Amino acid sequence: MNPELGPRTQQVLGQLTLEEKAAITAGSGFFHMTGVERLGIPNWLTTDGPNGARGSSFLGSGDSKSTAIPTGSALGATWDPELVEALGVMLGDETRTKACRVLLAPTVNLHRAPLAGRNFECFSEDPLLSGVLAAAYVRGVQSRGVVTTVKHFVGNECETDRWTSNSVIDERALRELYLVPFEYAVRDGGTLGVMTSYNRVNGAYCTEQRSLLTDLLRDEWGFDGFITTDWMSGADTVLSAEAGLTVEMPAGNRAFGTALAAAVREGRVDETTLDLLAGRMLSVFESIGAWDDEPAVERSIDRPEHRALARRAASGSMVLLRNMPVGGAPVLPLAVGSVRSIAVIGPNAGRAQIMGGGSSNLRPFHRTSPLDALRARLGDTVEITYAEGCNIDKAPPLISGSEAVAPNGEPGFLLELFDDTTFDGEPVGTATRDTSRVLFGDEVLPGIRLRRFALRATADYTPTVTGEHSFELTQVSPTRVLVDGVVVADGITERPPPSSAFFGFGASVPPAMVRLEAGSAHRVVIEFVVEHVMMFGGADLRVRAPFPSDAMAVAVEAAAAADVAVVVVGTNDDWETEGEDRTTLSLPGAQDELVAAVVAANPRTVVVVNTGAPVAMPWADDVPAIVQSWLGGQEMADALVDVLVGDTDPGGRLPTTFPLRVEHTPSYGNFPGDNGEVVYAEGLLVGYRWYDSRHLPVLFPFGHGGSYTTFDVGAPVLSAASVAAGDTVGVEVTVTNTGSRRGSHVVQCYVRPHGARVFRPDKELKAFRKVTLDPGASTTVAFDLDHRAFAYWDPAQPEWPELRARQAPTLPQLQAEQRRTEPGWTVEPGRYDIVIANSATDIVAVATVELTAG
Ligand code: BGC
Repeated sequence: MNPELGPRTQQVLGQLTLEEKAAITAGSGFFHMTGVERLGIPNWLTTDGPNGARGSSFLGSGDSKSTAIPTGSALGATWDPELVEALGVMLGDETRTKACRVLLAPTVNLHRAPLAGRNFECFSEDPLLSGVLAAAYVRGVQSRGVVTTVKHFVGNECETDRWTSNSVIDERALRELYLVPFEYAVRDGGTLGVMTSYNRVNGAYCTEQRSLLTDLLRDEWGFDGFITTDWMSGADTVLSAEAGLTVEMPAGNRAFGTALAAAVREGRVDETTLDLLAGRMLSVFESIGAWDDEPAVERSIDRPEHRALARRAASGSMVLLRNMPVGGAPVLPLAVGSVRSIAVIGPNAGRAQIMGGGSSNLRPFHRTSPLDALRARLGDTVEITYAEGCNIDKAPPLISGSEAVAPNGEPGFLLELFDDTTFDGEPVGTATRDTSRVLFGDEVLPGIRLRRFALRATADYTPTVTGEHSFELTQVSPTRVLVDGVVVADGITERPPPSSAFFGFGASVPPAMVRLEAGSAHRVVIEFVVEHVMMFGGADLRVRAPFPSDAMAVAVEAAAAADVAVVVVGTNDDWETEGEDRTTLSLPGAQDELVAAVVAANPRTVVVVNTGAPVAMPWADDVPAIVQSWLGGQEMADALVDVLVGDTDPGGRLPTTFPLRVEHTPSYGNFPGDNGEVVYAEGLLVGYRWYDSRHLPVLFPFGHGGSYTTFDVGAPVLSAASVAAGDTVGVEVTVTNTGSRRGSHVVQCYVRPHGARVFRPDKELKAFRKVTLDPGASTTVAFDLDHRAFAYWDPAQPEWPELRARQAPTLPQLQAEQRRTEPGWTVEPGRYDIVIANSATDIVAVATVELTAG
C-alpha cells in the first residue's frame, strides 16, 4: 500500500498485469494517454494550449474550433493573476468540451533571449511575474477537473537544436531564475502535471535527471502528479524510470510502455518502480474524477462570455509604449468626434495575426483584422482607407475560405476520402475544410480511421491579381497538386528530401510557377496517396501571388490624405514559431521603411506593433504614438479599437525588456549557442537585471507602459525599519488616480541589496499589484516580503571547513568566517532598499530596511 496513491488506484494496481501497468506509462495515440480498457478505465485525451484548448485540430487543420486567448507574453503584460486565473477557468471548461482531461500548458520558460522562437508562448523575462501568473493559470484550469502540464522543465529557452541542445546553467541561475516559475506552479498552483523539455541541462537529458525530477520536484517541492516527456523526446528506459519520469508521449513505446515492460522482465528495472509510475498516473486521474468518464464527443462551443473574457484580456495586455502630443494633445485616444479619415496601413492591418506558430496554433472561433474592426466601429462616420504597404510573408499564405469555393458551394476545399490508394469508386467520406492545409491524425475525417487511403481536396480558387503565382507544397504524406487539370507539383513520383517543416516530418516540393488571371476561377486539386500513417499526415499548399511594386507609394499617399494614419506592423506565425528562433530583432520586410515614410507623410501616426516578442524600432523617436498589441488572440482587433478610441485604458506593462540592439542583450554571443551548447554565460543577469546592473540604455524598459490617466504613487511605508533576517517585511503604498479617466496602474516593488557576500543583480522584482481606479479614487496596496524576497541561493562550499583548517590559526579573520557547507536559500543581514517603481528604470520612491543577524 502506498499512502500517496488514491484508494481506487491502490485497489486496482494489484489486479493489473505487468503489460497493463507498463502500457499506462506510454501514450496510446498521438494525444491519448492510456487507461485500462478491461476495467473500464478510459484512455484520457490531452490537448495543446496554452492560448486555447485546441482539441483535435492540428496545426490549423481540422474541424475543431476554440476560443483563442492572448498568447503568453500578452498574458505576462497584463500583470494580472486574477484575470489569468479566470482565463484558466475558461480554458479548463473548453478542455472539457474537447473531451480532454489534460491541457498541455502553461509554457513558463523565461525570455532569456528576445529572438527565442517560443517567447510569445512564455510570460516574461522575470521569474516572479512568470511564476505568479503560472500558478494562477494552473489554479484556474485545474478547478475544472483538468490537469495542467507546466512546461518545458527546464532550460528550454531556445528552439535551435531543441531536441538535443545542452543548456549550460549554473546552480544559482537555475534556482533564482529558471526553476522559479515551475516552483510557483507546483507549490502555489498545485499542478498535477509537468512536461520535461527536449533539451539537456548541464549535460544530461531532463527526462533522465533524478536530481530534477525526484529530489527537487517531488521531495523538495512536494509535487504529487505525473511527469510527461515532451512529444517524441528522447528518453532512456532505465535512467528515466529511475529518475522519476512517469509517462512517455505520444504512443511509441521507445522508452516506456512495452520497452519498460521488457526492462522489468529482464530485471533492468524493478517492478516496484513500474508500480509507482503506473500508480501515479492512475492516481492523478482518480483525483480529478476521470476514471468514470464516458466516451465523449468533442464539441466547439462559441460562448459569448468566453469572447468577452478574451477581449478583456487582450485590452488588459496592450501596452501604450509612447503617446506624445501632436498639435497640443496626445494622439491617443483618437478624438473620434473630430477625426474624419483614417488611413489603415501595414501588412498586419488587413490580417488577423493573433497567435504564434507550432503546437499552440489553433482554429479560433473567429478572426477579425484590425482593418475590419476599425471599419465596423468607425466606418459609418469616418472614411477608412487601406494600404498593405509591404509584404512580410516568410512562407506564402495558405489558400483560405474567402478565395476558394468547394464544388459543393461551401467556402474552402471539398475533401473526398477513398478506402484504398487509388481514387476509384465512391468516396467513403467527405468533408469541407476552409484552408489548403489538410492534416490528419488518428482519424482521417471525423469518425473515420484508415491506415491506407487516398484523399482528394478540390476547390475553385479565384486570385485577386494577374500574373505568375508560385505554388509551394510541403508534404508529410506523398502529395501532388493539379491546377486546371495539369500536375504542377508532384511529391508522389519524386519524393523530396526531409526538411524542418512539420517538426521534421515534412518535405518541400520545389515551387511551381503558374500564370493565373485575376477574377477567374482556377480549379486546384490536392491529392494524397497514403500507404501507412505513422503519427499524422497530410500536406499544405501555399500560393505566393505577385506583389505590386508601388505598394509603399500607395500607402504613403493614403497616409498623407488622411487625418490620422494607423500602421499595424509585426510578424506572423511563420516568423514567431515553435521549432525556430528568429535571426534578427528587425521587423521582417520593409516595415521600418514603411513606418518612416508614413510618419514623414502624416505626423499624426499611430504604430501598432503586432508581435509576441520585442522588435527593434529605429523610428520610435519620430512616431508620436506606439501601442504593443502582442499576438492577442481572437479578440485582439476589437480590443485594439477599444484602446485606440479610448473605451478602455491600455492595461498592459512590458513583461520583458525591449532592447535597443541585439548586441546589448544578455545572451548575445551565447544564443542560440554553438554546436548544440547553449551557455547561459550571463548567469543571473537576465532581462532588466542585466541592463540595470550594467547601466545599459534600452528602447523600452521592463514594466513600462502608459495610461490615458495619471497616477500619484506614494512612498512605501514599511512595517518596521529593522527586522531579523528571515522575517517578513510589510510594505504599504498608496496609489491615487489623479487624472480624469478610469485607468489601471501596476505598482512594482523591487528589492535592492546594499551589499552581499556573493554577486547579486542591482535590483529584483519581488512583488507587484495591478490596481484599476476611477478618477480621484485612491487605494493602499500591501505587500508582504518574506524571506525569499531577500534571499539568494547559496550553492555552498562543502570543503570550506577543510580549507580553513589547513590555514594557520594566526589568520583569525579566515578562521572566523562561516560559509555554508550545504546549499540553500540564504538571507544575509544588512541593508536593503525597497524600491517602488513604474518600470525598471522609472523609480518612484525608496525606503530602506535593516535585516539584523540572528
Ligand atoms: C511541444 C509541446 C507540445 C507537444 C504536443 C511539442 O512539440 O514542444 O509544447 O505540447 O509538442 O503537441
